[in-house]
Amino acid sequence: MEIPKFLTERYQFWKKNTFEDFKEIYLQASQTPQKPIAMIITCCDSRILENTIFGGSVGDYFIHRNIANIVPSKNDKDQNIQTLSAIEYALKVLKIPNLIILGHSNCGGVAYSYKTLLDKKNINDFEYINQWVSCLQNSYNNIPDNFTETEKITFFEQENIKQSIKNLREYNFIDKLIKENKLNVIGLWYQINSGLIKFLDNNNNFIDLD
Ligand SMILES: [Zn+2]
Repeated sequence: MEIPKFLTERYQFWKKNTFEDFKEIYLQASQTPQKPIAMIITCCDSRILENTIFGGSVGDYFIHRNIANIVPSKNDKDQNIQTLSAIEYALKVLKIPNLIILGHSNCGGVAYSYKTLLDKKNINDFEYINQWVSCLQNSYNNIPDNFTETEKITFFEQENIKQSIKNLREYNFIDKLIKENKLNVIGLWYQINSGLIKFLDNNNNFIDLD
């Protein structure tokens, strides 16, 4: 195994600079239990820098990433264990009061799912991805026919966030926390090229976050 140069160089830079600047915060973080202000479920996409966007410091955000930021339905028993175990820990142990689903533009997972569902055939090579993105079927079914291709993809990305929030409520322990006002669920869609973020309002519409 060879350690790539970018890894050692960047690590050394971080250790000498950023870590030194935040030394006290790291020390304090190691001596107290973590108490994040929000859990963020977002996509594996390397362009989503949630800690940068929301000014995250050590211990602020509890992050779970998966392809296309999906919270699978309770009925998707073969798919939901990883995401739900992260949520279970976040809510039951850490008692995090905010749960953010952060979707985004140009999502490869959503685009792939759109293509396979449209063509009604999977790419055989993607054994695991095919199974995972099958969770998006319900969101896909809601795409309006009269939209342009670009509008359809954006709609699909945003519908997936709505569906994930809907799916959260199928789990009794999550639904109970929401009903008791102990958990605030927030849906966000991030546009990579413009930096725009839209949030899901109480009427279930995406509105600019300004
Ligand atoms: Zn994505």
